[in-house]
Amino acid sequence: MMRKLIVAIDGPSGAGKSSVTRALAERVGYTQIDTGAMFRVVALMAHRNGVNPDDENALAELCAGLDIGFDLIAGAPVVLANGEDVSSQIRSPEISLLTSKFAAIPLVRIYLLAIQRKMGEQGGVVLEGRDIGTVVFPNADLKFFLTASAEERGRRRFAELVAKGVQVTLEQTVAEVVQRDEQDMNRKSAPLMRAADAIEIDSTGLSPEEVISLMESHVRQRES
Ligand code: C5P
Repeated sequence: MMRKLIVAIDGPSGAGKSSVTRALAERVGYTQIDTGAMFRVVALMAHRNGVNPDDENALAELCAGLDIGFDLIAGAPVVLANGEDVSSQIRSPEISLLTSKFAAIPLVRIYLLAIQRKMGEQGGVVLEGRDIGTVVFPNADLKFFLTASAEERGRRRFAELVAKGVQVTLEQTVAEVVQRDEQDMNRKSAPLMRAADAIEIDSTGLSPEEVISLMESHVRQRES
């Protein structure tokens, strides 16, 4: 019998987690769970409603009334906040930086942790994030830690933003990536960290295909 695994892919911003997770999930027939999108939705909705990261009561109320969903529209994955498609809005540079501020708040992490565990507990999932292998699923069947140099990650993020028509400079984007790493690594609650048993892959000199094939071979090995 083939086992349906829980696969964790953690790593810093711009290491290529999203595209690799999507492709890997498709190849092995698993569900992709983008946990970063969930934190982004919280930040976007807080921003819209004028809720500050340090206002615990307002944040708790916001989370309680928030329904985060994932769907496919015309074959493309979309992120829903109370039914509204917010896929583009959550990716702006402003919301990216704000997200890592909200992601440092324990209340927000606890709220999303429960949702993430429920979505993944049956297996047959690839979850991407910062703390999947350390906190959300410390017993995941397979853990990857995907990295790349800050310059390389900044260049990739820059190309993505330019392709979407966002006006930014390369310097700004590299600086934003570095700032977000610092915020994510230095927070007290579930900081970005490689799990001791994670397989580290430095994608700096590798093509996406090389990374995906490597991961796929690990999944196939574990499944059998
Ligand atoms: O992965 P993505 O860049 O979309 O994540 C956005 C932000 O959400 C990260 O910079 C991080 O602050 C936060 N995050 C987190 N834990 C996760 C996933 C994302 O703290 N598991």
